[in-house]
Amino acid sequence: MRRHIDSEKISQALATLDIHEYGDVLQCMRCGTCLPTCPTYRTDGIETQSPRGRVAMIKAVIDGRLTASEEFIEHMYHCLDCRNCQTVCPAGVKVGELVLEARYRIEEHIPQPLLKRFMLNHAICDQDRLSRYLVPVRLYQNLGIQRLVRKSQLLKYISSDLEFMESLLPQLPVRPLSHSIPQEVPAVGKELGRVGFFLGCAMNLIFADISLDTIDVLSRSGYTVVIPKNQQCCGTPNIAEGERRIYREMAEHNISLFQDKNLDAIVTDCAACGSELKTYRETLSKRAATAKKAEAFSSKIRDISEFLVAADSEEMKFGPIEEVVCFHDPCHLRHGQKLVSPQRDLLRRIPDLTYREIPDEGQCCGSAGIYNITHRDRSMKILEAKVKAISKTGAQRVITSNPGCFMQLKYASEKLAAGWQVSHMSQMLRVSLERGQTSRNSNSH
Ligand code: SF4
Ligand code: SF4
Repeated sequence: MRRHIDSEKISQALATLDIHEYGDVLQCMRCGTCLPTCPTYRTDGIETQSPRGRVAMIKAVIDGRLTASEEFIEHMYHCLDCRNCQTVCPAGVKVGELVLEARYRIEEHIPQPLLKRFMLNHAICDQDRLSRYLVPVRLYQNLGIQRLVRKSQLLKYISSDLEFMESLLPQLPVRPLSHSIPQEVPAVGKELGRVGFFLGCAMNLIFADISLDTIDVLSRSGYTVVIPKNQQCCGTPNIAEGERRIYREMAEHNISLFQDKNLDAIVTDCAACGSELKTYRETLSKRAATAKKAEAFSSKIRDISEFLVAADSEEMKFGPIEEVVCFHDPCHLRHGQKLVSPQRDLLRRIPDLTYREIPDEGQCCGSAGIYNITHRDRSMKILEAKVKAISKTGAQRVITSNPGCFMQLKYASEKLAAGWQVSHMSQMLRVSLERGQTSRNSNSH
C-alpha cells in the first residue's frame, strides 16, 4: 500500500535540522574518501548510493533545490547505517547519523504501517510480551512442522520473501534466558569485582545459550554478574526507524534498573546494544532530569571483549583451540564503538589458534538490523562480497559478536555453502577458558 507523502512538510522538517547536524552537511568537501568504503556504493557504483551523494541530497532538500519525494525517502532507507564512511571521513561528517536524523523527520510526517507501529510502540517494549508472540514460532520448530515445511519447500511456492525469512530463523530456546537465570551469578574463585549484564532482546529470546556463555566467561574471570529483571530493548530498532518517544522511555527504564547496584561496569555481548547504550548519554542529554544518569550509565557500558582485555584478570586461563579463525567486525563494534583490537587481542591469547584477518577493512555483512529483509537483493550482494573476502582467509570458523551478523553469516554458511562455522566471541572464550581451567585443576592435583 502506498503511503501519502507530504513532501513540503518533510522538506520543512528537514530544514529544522539543528546547527550541529546542518554543520555536518556543510563540512562535506566532496573529497570522495568515503566512496570505496560504502557498501551500497560498492555494489551499485552510483553517486546517489554513496555517503557523499546522501549528504548532497539532504542538503539539496534543506536548500529547497530538491523535493523530499518518494525517491528521496527511498534513498534515505538504502543506507545501512554501518558508519564505515564516518570512520574514514577526514572532515568528520557523520553521514549515518545524519541519515537517521533525516529518517526521524520523514517518519514524523508520513503515516506508519500498522505492523511497524505495533512492533515499535508495543511489542518491543516488553521482552516477556515479545516472548509470548514467539510461542507460535517455538511450536512451529518443536512440533516438527518446520522440518516438514523445509523438506516440502512449501514456502517457496507461497512467497520467496517468507521462505528467506524462515531460512534465517535460528532454533529458539524453550524459554528466554531472563526466565531461567538468577539476578546475581557469583564469581568463580576470587571475586575481582561486580559487573552488570545487559541482556538485549535478541540475545535473551533467540541466543540465550550465547548469553549464558557470556555470563559464564565473566564469572570464570572473577566477576560477580548482576542481571536485573525486566530489562527492555536498547532501542536500536526504534532509532533506526525514526521512532523516538518509546525509545526514550525504554532508555530511561534501562538506566533505572542498573542504578545503585554498585557496579564496576555494565557488560553486553551484543554490539548493537553496546553501541546504542553508549549513546544514551547523547540521546538523553537534552533533558536535565536524565542527562546525568544517562552519562553515568553510558560511561559504564563495555563490550565483552573490551571489558575482558581491560580487566586482564589473572583468573583468565586460556586453554587451546586448534583452529584457523577470522573475526567479522560488526559495524556497531568497529565503527559505532571504534573497537577493533580487543577482540583480536583476546583471540590471539588462545593457544593453538591461528588468527587471520579478513581482507576487506571491516565491510558490513549486509545484515544491518532488518535490512536483509527490507532490502534483500542488495543485502545478498553485500553478503556475497563478504563471503568472498572471508574465503580468502582459509578460516574454518568466523567469529563475530552481534546477533544480526551471526544470523547473516550462518545463512551464508548453510545456504551459500561458504564452508565455515560461525561462533560468537563468548562461545570461543567459554570453550577456551573451560579447557584452561580443566588443565589448571588437573595440574594442581
Ligand atoms: S569523506 Fe566526508 S568530506 Fe569526503 S565526500 Fe565523504 S562525507 Fe564528504
Ligand atoms: S552509513 Fe554505511 S551505507 Fe550509509 S552512507 Fe555510510 S558507508 Fe554508506
